[in-house]
Amino acid sequence: MAATYKTEGRIVTNGAAALEALKARATLWDMTLEDDGVSTSLCVWNSRASLCLEGEGGTFKLTSPEERLLRTLQDSVTEMLEGSGLSIQWDKVDEGALAPGLSLMTVVSVSRRSPGYLRVRLEGSDAARFATGSLHFRILIGPRGRAPIWPRTAANGRTVWPEGEDALHKPVYTTIAAEDNWLEFDIFRHQGSPTSDWAESNPVGETVGLMGPGGGGCPEASELLLFGDETAMPAISRMLAVAPGKVKAYLQVSKENLCELASDDRVVPVDNLVEALECCETPSTCHVWFAGHCDAAKAARTCLLARGFGKRDFTAVSYWS
Ligand SMILES: Cc1cc2nc3c(=O)[nH]c(=O)nc-3n(C[C@H](O)[C@H](O)[C@H](O)COP(=O)(O)OP(=O)(O)OC[C@H]3O[C@@H](n4cnc5c(N)ncnc54)[C@H](O)[C@@H]3O)c2cc1C
Repeated sequence: MAATYKTEGRIVTNGAAALEALKARATLWDMTLEDDGVSTSLCVWNSRASLCLEGEGGTFKLTSPEERLLRTLQDSVTEMLEGSGLSIQWDKVDEGALAPGLSLMTVVSVSRRSPGYLRVRLEGSDAARFATGSLHFRILIGPRGRAPIWPRTAANGRTVWPEGEDALHKPVYTTIAAEDNWLEFDIFRHQGSPTSDWAESNPVGETVGLMGPGGGGCPEASELLLFGDETAMPAISRMLAVAPGKVKAYLQVSKENLCELASDDRVVPVDNLVEALECCETPSTCHVWFAGHCDAAKAARTCLLARGFGKRDFTAVSYWS
């Protein structure tokens, strides 16, 4: 990790409780703490939060390769400590700044890509950072008829989100393509979807917030087996474009919505993702990536664990519930 950004925070009393909170957070996130005899560290998001106990209290040192990740970690550590009734005094807080990793962008077009998909194009000065690394982002859409209020950093380092009538809709989507000042993503239209309704309401000219990127990229594997439904097709099309090794994709998507993937001979249309996985040979050397409805993701996890895959040797994610 190239740690360019740093900050420190001091806990005046009850450092022992802070250590317990850090241990509980590591357990919650299924992560292992590092202990070098001086400090205890949690490594997450390519960043590090190290707690050094001193006297009654302690010091948290945060290091990160990106400012947005440092501020995200600062928010997270502050929230973790608050949960244990502790407060922390940071040496620097960007009070009043937009929430870490939040970029404001303008909708420039919404077009129908296929019967089931809408393509949205956004413009914003720092769109390029969504083009590399993790594939996904959270879009923040303001309540209809009200000027959006964006989340900002409070004096204690926490992000304060608008609530009540000003609450934002915050679903996760996948970057299809992005360059210097534009980004495109695809929305699978479905019943009762605030995002589909918003996109179909001609939002051209509106400002939205984008947080990220996050949620992982294309797994590094010599053989990749991808399984996904309509919501995962954007991620699968990105992975098909960049996967370094052998790759095959099983898609539970109707033919009319497969778009350019209909002519990709690495793509197999299926009626049921879980059955497709159960019928598929999955050599121990391959990485299985699975995303879809929460029940399907759970069934995939059960199937792969039963086949002897380690928890970190496959990906099975709920994209919707
Ligand atoms: C990492 C990640 C990446 C994703 N990328 C994309 C993407 O690029 N494109 C995309 O279209 N989706 C994507 N999704 C899925 C998307 O976030 C969900 O479908 C989300 O529910 C959409 O929000 P919503 O506005 O419909 O509101 P919500 O309030 O979340 O949902 C409203 C209602 O719609 C139902 N619902 C949600 N999804 C579906 C569905 N697929 N079919 C039927 N009913 C549904 C919910 O059960 C709920 O009743 C992604 C999800 C994740 C976790």
